[in-house]
Amino acid sequence: MSTVVQLEYVGDLAPYDEEEAGLAEAGASLTVVRAADGDALVAAAGDADVIWVEWTPHLTRDVLERLPQLGLAIRWGVGYEQIDVTAATELGIAVANAPAYCTEDVAEHAMALLLAVSRQVVYRDRQGQQGLWRHGPARQRRLAGSTVGVVGLGRIGSHVAKVAAAFGATVLGYDPVVRNPSVRQVGFEELLASSDFVSVHVPLTPETHHLFDADSLALMRPDAALVNTSRGGVVSQAALVAALDAGRLGAAALDVFEQEPLPADNPLRGRDNVILTPHEGANSPQSGRDLRRAVYGATVEWLRTGWTDAIVNPQVRPHARVAR
Ligand code: NAD
Repeated sequence: MSTVVQLEYVGDLAPYDEEEAGLAEAGASLTVVRAADGDALVAAAGDADVIWVEWTPHLTRDVLERLPQLGLAIRWGVGYEQIDVTAATELGIAVANAPAYCTEDVAEHAMALLLAVSRQVVYRDRQGQQGLWRHGPARQRRLAGSTVGVVGLGRIGSHVAKVAAAFGATVLGYDPVVRNPSVRQVGFEELLASSDFVSVHVPLTPETHHLFDADSLALMRPDAALVNTSRGGVVSQAALVAALDAGRLGAAALDVFEQEPLPADNPLRGRDNVILTPHEGANSPQSGRDLRRAVYGATVEWLRTGWTDAIVNPQVRPHARVAR
């Protein structure tokens, strides 16, 4: 019998009736664990064949080395920086994610943030709620005819590019790997210097950590807006705050942060030109359903065949561990 361990985060995914029934048919049982750290995880899930990771604890090299039976680690989501993929590959552990469960949701959230910035929706809502009428500077922008720069032209970025174009914006894209024939692709610096709105859709990797730092933010137009729905670590918060404070950047709309949850005293709070949503970009009933199906489906496929297309480190295949 194989053991699948769900590393539960806040418990909002329970109950797991459907998953348990399907796993039983595939010869596996589900154990739900809440672990405060890697040691607690190893103590509770040392015999796991499969681990599902929501957010924490992270599957670091140290933790992975103490999970001798682990064959598959799946992230409940798109980004999988919680798992040391290099270490997993060396150890014969396959790593998978749910790559497409929320593409439209995050793209729509990015567009919602972009439109909220361009039309001052949140700023004006605060006034409407307080009974203020025609108050404060009108800094609405017209999206049609503006230039939207999309950094990262994968699933989400490409969808944003398509929707922004439908609004009549000129879309520029930057991606060192992907070619999207529908988007005019330019260099990173040209995109930053030319865009009224920049929307970020890259994974968090050592290469993209602080892709937006003081130097790159300085290349943006002083009235431009930065929209980040990817990962907080892609944007240096200190550099962003400095740019906003100095008036070198017009606005920011963020769904993700270097520190989550965003601390109460965070300097990004309380600004008329900054919109903050608490990492909600992926959420909808449809995405929740698709996520469950993706994680569970990849697990059953792996248990039955030893492989699944959701695996992100295919180079592990020649020496991959197998389920019991
Ligand atoms: P994807 O893998 O389809 O696309 C990512 C793209 O980024 C790829 O085309 C890749 O070539 C490109 N890229 C990598 N490094 C780059 C760089 N230095 N500059 C420019 N482009 C670069 O992923 P996706 O489905 O589009 O998701 C993008 C990111 O969004 C995920 O990695 C995840 O971190 C984040 N995300 C956030 C939420 C949320 O709730 N806010 C939900 C899902 C995903």
